[in-house]
Amino acid sequence: MKIEIKDLSQVYKNDFRALSHVDLEINSGMFGLLGPNGAGKSTLMRILVTLLNPTHGDVFVNGMKLSDNRAEVRSYLGYLPQDFRFFSKLKTWEFLDYAASLAGIRNKKQRLEQVDDLLEQVGLFDFRNRFANKLSGGMKRRLGIAQALIGDPKIVVVDEPTTGLDPEERIRFRNILSNLSQREVIIVLSTHIVGDISSTCSQMALLNGGEVHFKGSPEQFIKQTDGHVFKTNVTYEEMKLISEAYPIITSVPEAGGYEVEFVANELNGWKADTITPSLEHAYVYFMEYIANQKQVSNDILI
Ligand code: ADP
Repeated sequence: MKIEIKDLSQVYKNDFRALSHVDLEINSGMFGLLGPNGAGKSTLMRILVTLLNPTHGDVFVNGMKLSDNRAEVRSYLGYLPQDFRFFSKLKTWEFLDYAASLAGIRNKKQRLEQVDDLLEQVGLFDFRNRFANKLSGGMKRRLGIAQALIGDPKIVVVDEPTTGLDPEERIRFRNILSNLSQREVIIVLSTHIVGDISSTCSQMALLNGGEVHFKGSPEQFIKQTDGHVFKTNVTYEEMKLISEAYPIITSVPEAGGYEVEFVANELNGWKADTITPSLEHAYVYFMEYIANQKQVSNDILI
């Protein structure tokens, strides 16, 4: 499976440019689309699942042009939208059964088998008789991924699935996606939460202001921050100065001050040790230094 996104731009009716010349290639496995709120992630997801026609550019699925083959591409797709909703009057299994019949699975036995299988996969089998609106937030999200998996889609698009979940549910959700990524499918996961871009994401992109600022592996993304993450001990007075100068990642109180981790382009006189960057460090560094620089250069171009 392969998705190619070519020179995609989206300008909304109010002239707002939500995506600008986006080029991406997505292969089988888990693809993480990381970016802050308003970056254009949902816009891109909605174009991928054929809910929105881009203003410019196109998407190719296994070489097939999406704009000319909507129905066929749709048959490959499963989608969990950011604002996933369902009928409150249905029990959990009934909801999935209903969704499966809408997806065209006519044979009742086959449908019920698939429903049970999906309930097992997302850990909701024991709750199958609970009314769907009585499920917890995390369970509702899991029901959402179950409905996205009806009919064995080859491409699964999940838009900000972990927003608002507690840490335990977030991990649970990530594990479901990670199990899925063992199959020959493409999972496109959009998120503003760095922790969602786990080691299971073989590929990732960083979207900011509608533009792709980075594409590659999470390891490559982290590597760009080599030599820019520091650790040092500061007094209470120095803490104020250093936090004004650099983005602080963590600060741990200790006798007489703090042990701080921060990212910086240059140390400007501070004495600190370099430490191995994590994805979170890389994201903060990127947003603070690289994305801003790009903004400056765009301004100059204009
Ligand atoms: P994200 O999912 O990364 O938060 P979105 O794709 O939802 O980003 O939105 C990107 C930008 O486009 C935001 O500034 C948003 O306000 C704007 N936007 C989204 N949908 C519309 C729309 N229908 N009309 C106008 N602007 C929109």
